[in-house]
Amino acid sequence: MRLVLLGPPGAGKGTQAQILVETYNIPQLSTGDMLRAAIKAGTPLGLEAKAIVDRGDLVSDAIVSGIISERMDEPDCANGFILDGFPRTIAQAEALDDMLDAKGLKLDAVVEIKADPDVLIERIINRAKETGGARTDDNEDVLRKRLVVYNEQTAPLVSFYAGQGLLRSVDGMQPINEVTASIKAAIE
Ligand code: AMP
Repeated sequence: MRLVLLGPPGAGKGTQAQILVETYNIPQLSTGDMLRAAIKAGTPLGLEAKAIVDRGDLVSDAIVSGIISERMDEPDCANGFILDGFPRTIAQAEALDDMLDAKGLKLDAVVEIKADPDVLIERIINRAKETGGARTDDNEDVLRKRLVVYNEQTAPLVSFYAGQGLLRSVDGMQPINEVTASIKAAIE
């Protein structure tokens, strides 16, 4: 199963991806987690990405597409994967199509988790409190920026994937287990 989870920050992509990992026994590929790990480790990629992530902008399409393409070649991706936070631009979606073509693979579905913008801000502020500020980009100003970036650069992927017949939309305002049930119903 090769899935993309699409949705604004705070919609529950990471939470749902972690649940689906258990259900389908395939890994979650989160570019946000990969970038945060690189920043923490102080690698050249991390040093380049830190300021961009901290202000809520997007890291370059070439960098994230490269790290995803390499990650997909790892043995644990042989039966599929859940993409969480990638692609985030039309250019990344096109890069994804190209890399999958080159590897002889196809996406099974793109699940859009829909959420109301007011609830997103509240959820992320709570996440920041619960995690003790582990994410430097989980504060209200940066979040507002991330929502603008989502609407401008990522939301166009909804029609991109609808055009490919891959889009499934679920209501992300339901309780966590009901969102999971809706996703499973949409992809099976
Ligand atoms: P996330 O954990 O998915 O919310 O991502 C956190 C931050 O990492 C984003 O606000 C971006 O700065 C960066 N990032 C994550 N994924 C991507 C991507 N696919 N393209 C560009 N930047 C990304």
